[in-house]
Amino acid sequence: MIKLNTNECPYPPAPGVARLAAGMDCNAIRLYPDSNTASLTCALADYYHVKKEQVFVGVGSDDVLSMAFLTFFNGSLPILFPDVTYSFYDVWAKLYRIPYKTCPLDESWHINPNDYKQPNGGIIFPNPNAPTGLLESLDTVEEIVKANPGVVVIVDEAYIDFGGVSALPLLEKYDNLLIVQTFSKSRAMAGMRIGFCIGNERLIQYLKDVKFSFNSYTINMPSQVIGVEAVRDEAYFKEITGKIIATRERIKNVLRDLKFTFPDSCANFIFASHEAVPAKEIFTKLRERDIYVRYWDKPRISNSVRITIGTDAQMDALTDALREICNNA
Ligand code: PMP
Repeated sequence: MIKLNTNECPYPPAPGVARLAAGMDCNAIRLYPDSNTASLTCALADYYHVKKEQVFVGVGSDDVLSMAFLTFFNGSLPILFPDVTYSFYDVWAKLYRIPYKTCPLDESWHINPNDYKQPNGGIIFPNPNAPTGLLESLDTVEEIVKANPGVVVIVDEAYIDFGGVSALPLLEKYDNLLIVQTFSKSRAMAGMRIGFCIGNERLIQYLKDVKFSFNSYTINMPSQVIGVEAVRDEAYFKEITGKIIATRERIKNVLRDLKFTFPDSCANFIFASHEAVPAKEIFTKLRERDIYVRYWDKPRISNSVRITIGTDAQMDALTDALREICNNA
């Protein structure tokens, strides 16, 4: 089975993570974990050169995002996000009864910053976007943040480490910006559930106030210990993200030769459609060969499949299968 459908990392986490996991003192899990996640918060603050009061850690970035929706998106005006984007945003909006409005991406899948200059109760978008993989420039991000001083703008940087430029430097200028990242993709730790956000100290305190009001213990002890080790090993982090980027660029050329088109992804996936074979057929025929990619039967995106970048061997198996499927169509 080749699993290229949930944007996980195809490589193991940092070697120190395996060592720590193997030598874990199980007696320590009798105790509740540190509710402040102090060691991981400090490791992240050091790594990103911010104060520890600017960091909030959660159980995967889904937990952080969900908490941020609950904390910051509670006005009567609709929150704004792109029409084609991470599929959980409208789920949380509906769950928390937050009014929302989607802004259509343009024909080349880019955000039009002017769409985000209307009255709103908050803004969220991923950069790079999912499922397109397209990166918006820091100028575009800044234009949106600057135009909305009265609301919180959340930039979901789940895929930023695969060649994107983080909005972190903008935190010095804007106190309404919240940047969310995850250990699930570039740090190869989806199974540990570690996500975090960085923002102005006041925003982070509000998030903690909401979180502690109903659950004081979220991220578990092993995740905290192992997460610190993952942050420490920058060389390994650079090595695996570099390998994924190199594979992605190589596969773009192969896909082009096979007559696929796609936005120029800056993430660990490619959102591709074929000139002749419908995406649903590609998805089904790959599944028959035990190769899993992601397909949505939704407006605007129903003729594309999202393919996670795996190892070179996995991607060669995928492109061999695609060659067969497309040549026999
Ligand atoms: N944001 C985006 C854009 C994603 O694609 C994902 C992964 N599905 C997440 C957030 C959540 O990732 P996690 O909860 O594993 O950190």
